[in-house]
Amino acid sequence: KAPFTGVPGTDKERTFIAIKPDGVQRGLIAAIIARFENKGFKLVALKMLWPTKEKAESHYADLATKPFFKGLVAYFSSGPIVAMVWEGKDAIKTGRVLLGATNPAAAVPGTIRGDLAISVGRNICHGSDGPESAVHEIANWFAPEEVSDYPRSLDEWIVSDN
Ligand code: UDP
Ligand code: MG
Repeated sequence: KAPFTGVPGTDKERTFIAIKPDGVQRGLIAAIIARFENKGFKLVALKMLWPTKEKAESHYADLATKPFFKGLVAYFSSGPIVAMVWEGKDAIKTGRVLLGATNPAAAVPGTIRGDLAISVGRNICHGSDGPESAVHEIANWFAPEEVSDYPRSLDEWIVSDN
């Protein structure tokens, strides 16, 4: 059985996607989820939670030396977030494409940040940037029993190498 963090490089690749506190406040939960659903990815975990400072710090541990780290942790723990795990072929890389560039000013229209945000400090969403961070982030926010492994009959209409 595949680990609950997924198997990068396969159809069971999983990525951690979060709607940050500003995305929740702005009423963009449904709009952001729709991008991933409509694309064809499979939602395998979802919950709303209010991050503690400690959990926000462990989530962003690799950015601890950055000058914006303190403000970033305060931002991420400033209200409830929607934490999700999405599964599918190339979910990590393609998830980042759906989000758009980190700075919404550089994010192209058609992406979530390009369409819905203006400022790098309020860029409404998070997505894992690689296989290692996906594993770390999924385990940081979810317990194994909170992630559902389920078949979807339409998968054959979404993925094929023909
Ligand atoms: N961030 C910021 N100022 C910066 C760079 C990043 O406030 O100059 C914030 C921004 O919210 C970003 C988060 O820190 O989403 C994490 O940075 P990262 O470089 O990992 O960007 P991401 O992976 O979210 O695109
Ligand atoms: Mg990042």
